[in-house]
Amino acid sequence: MANFAYQTLISPESDQRYDLNEIVSASSDAYSLLDVEYEWDKIPVPKSLKEFESRWQNRRNPLDFSGVWRFRDLLPFAPENQIVTIGEGQTILQKSEAIGRYVGMKKGELHLQYEGLNPSGSFKDNGMTAASTHANMMGAKFAACASTGNTSASLAIYGSTSKKFRVVVFIGSGKIAYGKLSQALDFDSKTIQILGDFDDALVRVREVCDENGIYLCNSVNPFRLEGQKTIMYRVLESLNWEVPDWIVVPGGNLGNSSAFGKAFSELKYLGLIDRIPRLAVINATGANTLYQLYEKQGVRWNQGHPDRKKIDSYFEKMDTEGRKANTLATAIEINRPVNLTKCLRALEVCDGVVREVSDQDILNAKAQIGANGFGCEPASAASVAGAKLLRSEGVIGSGDRVVCILTGHQLKDPNITVGYHSANKEVFEKTLGEHGVTKAPYANQPIAVENDLEKILELLSQFGKKE
Ligand SMILES: *Cc1c(COP(=O)(O)O)cnc(C)c1O
Repeated sequence: MANFAYQTLISPESDQRYDLNEIVSASSDAYSLLDVEYEWDKIPVPKSLKEFESRWQNRRNPLDFSGVWRFRDLLPFAPENQIVTIGEGQTILQKSEAIGRYVGMKKGELHLQYEGLNPSGSFKDNGMTAASTHANMMGAKFAACASTGNTSASLAIYGSTSKKFRVVVFIGSGKIAYGKLSQALDFDSKTIQILGDFDDALVRVREVCDENGIYLCNSVNPFRLEGQKTIMYRVLESLNWEVPDWIVVPGGNLGNSSAFGKAFSELKYLGLIDRIPRLAVINATGANTLYQLYEKQGVRWNQGHPDRKKIDSYFEKMDTEGRKANTLATAIEINRPVNLTKCLRALEVCDGVVREVSDQDILNAKAQIGANGFGCEPASAASVAGAKLLRSEGVIGSGDRVVCILTGHQLKDPNITVGYHSANKEVFEKTLGEHGVTKAPYANQPIAVENDLEKILELLSQFGKKE
């Protein structure tokens, strides 16, 4: 069992250290810089990643069944009897020839990591099991988050299944995909809708958490990122512990990309991998803060001292111009990514790049993913659209091995899918028009036909001919 007493949280900028059980003000700026740091030399760690395979034989133990906690040696902050798990992380890595061709891989391989297969339908469960565990360790009565949808769905399912704490969810009054909102309501969380967008809701929930001693579960919570590291462990496991050339992931609040960077730098430090893959973080054009700062303004991690002036003036300008995030990929519709600094560290560790893709490109990629696999929600498809862009630029080589993370389930946001495939111009316009989506080259339109057997058979016979 882990020597959990050794762990501390550090803030990379101030180097201030906190005890694992200390309450840190959720609204302070330093909070989003907290990092779970382990004293690895005092913790027993497997000699090889292959050792984790023995856990497969012990699936009746919920901790070994979980795709997160069977790697608990690599996130050893919790005593085993306090871990809150609901069987998260049973996800698969699927090699896709068709999406590989779409992206432009010639000799190389393209893999899709389907994180939508988690209990609440998104990768968020990887992190929420860890945050719920820490909330449980702290004896929290309430847990809260602000959400564009999936975070609340995930926290709500952990509340309803574990009954360890009650859940309060803050959502903005703008767009929220109905699949996600329905989950928060169905899982019996208190849902508070404020007049504002996600960025506004997050500021408020952090204040509320300070006032009332409520446990904060947004991705500023460093324990969430610990759980999300395991997505990378599972990717490696599926590749027989071989390191791919690229990990491509959509970027919203930048928790996932930050967690991936931490996972790889720890594995390298522990001698469990011999090289680190490159990381590509993909923004939507309508929510492209990371792209602007990293690619256009050259902001870098700089050993924990990124150029704060550039960052601050970027946000000031955004505020004076009243610019709000705007993309139909609602899960990444975020202009103030709270994990910006940590993501800069991940980009440094992984020799990373950042790109932006339009909503049109996102939806085309999403249609291709759906036509050739398990499907995903719009934000997830940014990874494939981004890989295609990087391939066309020659940044990703045609022989590379690429893993695109599909962050959320197809059924999270059915309106957009139906809008894209709709034969009805009005429906298409209403759902997608305001986002500059004008074409649907991969639309699979429903076909109207008279209620007449002969006409239906006639129609079916034409399908055969076409293919
Ligand atoms: C939360 C979320 C993202 C964004 O991930 P970050 O860690 O915030 O960058 C992307 N896709 C889906 C489906 C999400 O739920």
